[in-house]
Amino acid sequence: MDDADVDGLVITNLVNVRWCAGFTGSHGVLLIRPDSATLITDSRYATQAPEQISEAGADIDILISADLVSEGSGLMADSTAIGLEADDITWADQHRWASAVDRDLVPTHALITELRSVKDDAELARMQRAAEIVDSVLAEVDSMLVVGTTERDLANALDDGMRARGASGPAYETIVAGGPNAALPHARPSTRPFEEGDLVVIDAGSVVDAYRSDMTRTFMIGAPDETARTIHDLVTRAQAAGVASVRAGVAVGDIDRACRDLITDEGYGAEFGHGTGHGVGLDIHELPSVRGGNSAILQPGQVITVEPGIYLPGVGGVRVEDMVVVTDDGCRALTRSPKISLK
Ligand code: ZN
Ligand code: ZN
Repeated sequence: MDDADVDGLVITNLVNVRWCAGFTGSHGVLLIRPDSATLITDSRYATQAPEQISEAGADIDILISADLVSEGSGLMADSTAIGLEADDITWADQHRWASAVDRDLVPTHALITELRSVKDDAELARMQRAAEIVDSVLAEVDSMLVVGTTERDLANALDDGMRARGASGPAYETIVAGGPNAALPHARPSTRPFEEGDLVVIDAGSVVDAYRSDMTRTFMIGAPDETARTIHDLVTRAQAAGVASVRAGVAVGDIDRACRDLITDEGYGAEFGHGTGHGVGLDIHELPSVRGGNSAILQPGQVITVEPGIYLPGVGGVRVEDMVVVTDDGCRALTRSPKISLK
């Protein structure tokens, strides 16, 4: 808050509220001042809010009100500069705060999400479990990787398997994309059955106690042709090079370059159209964004994905993704499903 030149902060992003206060309700705002914090929520959460805040061990006052903005602006009367989370507030709410508070409002960016990017041991344990669940489900559905299985059947089996092992569900819509659909980085599972010669991209994560995992492997139905072998091997090597470059103190953009240079050098730069990865935690996409030119420096405890891909429209695609935790001398993979080799 000092760095942002504010002495009051209005937290409207509910995931940030949860991270700060332990409160999981769907309506509320957290006000932070230099010496105190107050959660304002409505009467539906009159019982839940104090329970969750005490469970989280947070020293936060609770105020129950139907009108968050007028209560909140009253509580912030002593603040001279009030920050709003510029990336997480609606235009309508910004107007409400601006008319309730007769001082300048300061747009703040990523004050809480930057803190969230570094995970503590309890957060890492949940993410490790979320990753292990997917590792074990993926091993179990191996027998479905045959001609005739539809993308949707396999995606449903993965989702069911995650829940059966104690996950609260998938961390995002599970991707199972075979043949030409594998050329779409964010394909949705269809009723298309797998055919001989398909590359099959499976991108799956689960949620354990609100924390997410994220992993991709690309499988083969039948015998790979030359193109499949080439791009699968190239993406696998690029992903390994990216993971090998992860270490505290390295610029995030260098991870992207480690993957991208290899793919570009072998002529597929244009077919790798997305960033190399992202932070993961309570949200599936968090800071830092692992893309070219990002000069942010990796910190120990950050969790990022490394997920290069090559997509050939109408033909197929390959993506390989691991979620790793950054350490002082490298990184540790939380996702551990074996790598496929088509060589
Ligand atoms: Zn993924
Ligand atoms: Zn990802």
